[in-house]
Amino acid sequence: MPHYDLVIVGTGSGNSILDDRFAGWKTAIVEKGVFGGTCLNVGCIPTKMFVHTADLAATPSVSGRLGVDEELLGVRWTDVRDRIFGRIDPIAAGGLEYRAKHEDNENVTVYQGEGRFTGHKELTVTLPDGRVETVTADRFVLAAGGRPVIPDIPGLDEVEYHTSDTVMRLDELPARAVIIGGGYIAAEFAHVFASFGVRVTVVNRSGALLRSEDEDISARFTELASQRFDVRLNRKVLRAGKSDTAGVGVALELEGPDGRETVEAELLLIATGRRPNSDLLNVSATGVTTVDSGHVQVDEYQRTGVDGVYALGDLSSPYELKHVANHESRVVQHNLLHPEEQVAADHRFVPHAVFTSPQVASVGLTEQQARERGVSYVTSKQDYAGIAYGWAMEDTSGFAKLLADPATGQLLGAHIIGPQSPSVIQPLIQAMSFGLDARSMARGQYWIHPAMPELVENALLNLPLDPAAS
Ligand SMILES: Cc1cc2nc3c(=O)[nH]c(=O)nc-3n(C[C@H](O)[C@H](O)[C@H](O)COP(=O)(O)OP(=O)(O)OC[C@H]3O[C@@H](n4cnc5c(N)ncnc54)[C@H](O)[C@@H]3O)c2cc1C
Repeated sequence: MPHYDLVIVGTGSGNSILDDRFAGWKTAIVEKGVFGGTCLNVGCIPTKMFVHTADLAATPSVSGRLGVDEELLGVRWTDVRDRIFGRIDPIAAGGLEYRAKHEDNENVTVYQGEGRFTGHKELTVTLPDGRVETVTADRFVLAAGGRPVIPDIPGLDEVEYHTSDTVMRLDELPARAVIIGGGYIAAEFAHVFASFGVRVTVVNRSGALLRSEDEDISARFTELASQRFDVRLNRKVLRAGKSDTAGVGVALELEGPDGRETVEAELLLIATGRRPNSDLLNVSATGVTTVDSGHVQVDEYQRTGVDGVYALGDLSSPYELKHVANHESRVVQHNLLHPEEQVAADHRFVPHAVFTSPQVASVGLTEQQARERGVSYVTSKQDYAGIAYGWAMEDTSGFAKLLADPATGQLLGAHIIGPQSPSVIQPLIQAMSFGLDARSMARGQYWIHPAMPELVENALLNLPLDPAAS
C-alpha cells in the first residue's frame, strides 16, 4: 500500500497547492473527473464566456432606445460552444499532462479515479478500469468540491434533463427551455438562453429570484426578469413527464397560487443548488466531521478535526465561490509548509457576483441581515440613472445600495444591480477590507468623470451618517 507525505483529493483549487516548495515531499493527487475542477470545466469560466457572448446577442433588444437599430441575424450555437470549449478543454488536458508527465512533478503521482475513505487516513481509489488502489498519507487536503442537487420530483427519472454540468455542451439550441430554480445559476443560464432566442420559463419555489441577495436587489431583479422570461413564482413541481406534443421533450406539472398548470419545453435545466461531495468521499471513515449542509467542518486554519487533514473550497465552504476556494488553498498551502506558524483564512468580506442581466454584485451584510442582527445601520441608494454614464447608457433600472455604521462611517454592506456591477463594486470591497470609512473614501480621492464608479462616489455621499462620523 503506497504511503505519501501528502495526498490531495480534487484538482480544482486543490491543484494549485503543489509547487517547488513541495519538491522533497512524496505526494499524490486524486481526481475522478476532468482535471481543473468545476470553475474551469463546468463553472465560472465557461458560463462567463457564454454570458459575454449572450450580452452581445442581446444588444439589439436595447440599442433601439439609443437610436441604433440592430438586428440579431443568428446565433451559431455550435460555433459558440466549440470556441469556448476549444479553449477550455486543452487547458484541462494540459493541466493533467503537466502533473502526470512533467519532470518538475517527479514527486507527484496522479490517480485518475474516485477516492473514498475506507479508514483512518486511508483512501481507496477506484480507477476507470475498475481496479482499486488504496493509499495512506500523513496529510490529506480534501478539495473535492460539490455537485448539483437533483430535487426529488416524481417522474424526473423518465425524462431527459440537464444540469450546469451538461447544458453548455448541447448539440443544438432548444426552442424553449424551462429552468427549475431561482438562484444565480438559473439567473445566468436564463439570460444566456433568452439572449440566444430561446423562450425561457423560470420555475421557482419561493416568491422571489436571487432570494439571498439584499431584498431590494432581489425584488428589482425579480421584476426585471419577469419582463423578460416567463417567471413562475411560488410553484411546486408536482411531476415531470414526457410531453404529449411531438418534438417537445418535457412537460412539468406545477402547483401554484392559481392552481395547477403545465409547462412544456424542449429542454429542462435543473438549477436548484449544489451540495458538497463529502458523502461520496465518505469523509467520516477518516474521522472528519460535517455540518448539516454536508460541508466538511473546518476551523479558521482550514483544519478538520483530524490531525494533518485540511479541507477547502466548496467541500467545506458555505460560500461556494472560486475566489474563496483559491484563498483557502493558499492558506492550506502555507499551513502545510509552516505547521508551527498557521495562518487563518479571511472570510470577513467575501464578495460575489451574478453574471445575468442586469449584473448583480454584493459584499457584506444585506439589509435583512443587518436588521436580524440588530446592527446599527443607515442606508443610501444611488441610481445609475442619476450619474452621467448611466445617462449615456439610458439605464433606468440599476442602482447601488450601501449600508454603513452611522457613527463611524464604516461600510457594512454594498449591493449593486446594473451594468458592470462586479467591477464597479471592487473599490467598496477594498474599503471594507482595509477599514476605510465612507466619507474618507468619497472625498479622499478623485473619481474619474464621467465613469461608472461615480455611482459609488454618489452612494457614499448619500449616506446619512452622524455629523461626527469621520
Ligand atoms: C455553473 C456554475 C457557475 C459558477 N460561476 C462562478 C462564478 O462566476 N464565480 C465564482 O466565484 N464561482 C462560481 N462558481 C463556483 C465555483 O465554480 C466553485 O466555487 C469552485 O470551482 C470550487 O472549487 P473547489 O476547488 O472547491 O472544487 P471543484 O473545482 O469542484 O474541484 C473539486 C474536484 O474534485 C473532484 N472530486 C470530487 N470528488 C472526488 C473524489 N471522491 N475523488 C476524486 N476526485 C473527486 C471533482 O471531479 C473536481 O474536479 C460556479 C459554479 C457553477 C456550477
